[in-house]
Amino acid sequence: MNITVVGAGYVGLTTALGYANLKHKVFCYDNDLEKIKLLKKGKLPFFEKGLQELLPLNLNKNFVATDTLIDSLDKSSMIFICVGTPSLNNGKIDLEYIFQSCKEIGMNLKSCKDYKTIVIKSTVIPKTTEELIIPIIEKYSSKKIQIDFDVKVIPEFFQEGNALHNFFNPDRIIIGQINSSNNLLIDELYSSFTCPVLKVSLATAEMIKYSSNAFLSCKISFINEIGNICKLLGLDVYEVANGMGYDPRIGPYFLNAGPGFGGSCFTKDLQALIKKAESLDYTPLLLQSILEVNNNQPLKVINLIKKKFNKIDSLKIGVLGLSFKEGTDDVRESPAIYIIKELINLNLIIHAYDPMALPNMKKKFPNIKYFENPQELINNSDVILIVTAWPQFKNLNYIGKYVIDTRKVIDNKKGVDYEGLCW
Ligand code: NAD
Repeated sequence: MNITVVGAGYVGLTTALGYANLKHKVFCYDNDLEKIKLLKKGKLPFFEKGLQELLPLNLNKNFVATDTLIDSLDKSSMIFICVGTPSLNNGKIDLEYIFQSCKEIGMNLKSCKDYKTIVIKSTVIPKTTEELIIPIIEKYSSKKIQIDFDVKVIPEFFQEGNALHNFFNPDRIIIGQINSSNNLLIDELYSSFTCPVLKVSLATAEMIKYSSNAFLSCKISFINEIGNICKLLGLDVYEVANGMGYDPRIGPYFLNAGPGFGGSCFTKDLQALIKKAESLDYTPLLLQSILEVNNNQPLKVINLIKKKFNKIDSLKIGVLGLSFKEGTDDVRESPAIYIIKELINLNLIIHAYDPMALPNMKKKFPNIKYFENPQELINNSDVILIVTAWPQFKNLNYIGKYVIDTRKVIDNKKGVDYEGLCW
């Protein structure tokens, strides 16, 4: 099958290289020319496990990076929209990139003869596809839904750091579609996957994505709140979570207390859902609390530092781990950002290290001191904050240092002045 993927970010590139590797012909389009230039040279614009290996194997064979839409659209029967859907300042979803890409697709569709299936992979608030996306494509293409083209919502559920594995091994595939929609192409595309495939309405598929992210972030804020109480009681929340997780109604996943969730999705999707609910005259108290707990969580390390030292103004603070989780260079909404901001407010000397995310964090905080070697950071700092659970942080030499471990990374605490965040 010929496929065009619009947007070469984490979702778009994983989707594009995934399908290319499954022997489909994929055109990957982005309006960021630098990204396309890099891809044409066989280089990824970001790190995601496994993608760098797939790129040269497929480049200019099953995978073509392109900065024009018209040729690829004409040749493709399916078009995946994978552009970003960030937050506006007021928390509502920002649909600018979706509108832009739908307009572009519509204008280029005008001259295409064949029937196209357009798949919305970007996360969009319920009813967006029905009320906004389809009308925009119809307007700019002068074509009619289900006569000249179809639109489906197939949300993406992968986890960064494990995206390619999740692509090839999904738990379920949710296909949102109009009732009478034709399934031939979609069924062919997903024929090699063995997981359950659920066909629902467009808005139900959109809501499944938001509800899944809301539930996962709820689990994290829940266990962080329990963790904060455990800390006051002198208990280890990881032991508590382990005991809870055997109950199949609870499950063991996403019960790792820490400095709060980050990443590009949870916060912005929760905010968007809250705003949508409020626009319907409903106040989603639980969703609001998930964010409130999460906003406070990174700052718990600052309280611990203040509790430990009478005078903090001459302390050198080493931040180990800057990406929002291990296995990625993505720093979007990373707890490290909120911790560093507060350390800057307190006028402290900040040292920082990450095995992958230094270039991205340097763009956000150009004026703090970065280390290329984590042991050097430890040797030169008074307080060490372990903020990301990179496995390489486990066996560093922390002897003699005050360490606040927010992710339960260190096992060997001999000679270390060790403080767990929630244990
Ligand atoms: P991203 O910011 O990494 O990538 C988006 C890409 O779209 C960028 O390369 C940008 O240049 C490109 N783009 C923007 N407007 C364009 C246009 N008009 N034409 C062509 N390209 C355009 O975003 P992402 O993390 O890949 O997320 C994409 C969507 O998928 C979002 O809606 C997000 O919520 C959702 N999602 C993300 C994840 C994740 O873990 N990152 C997981 C599931 C779902």
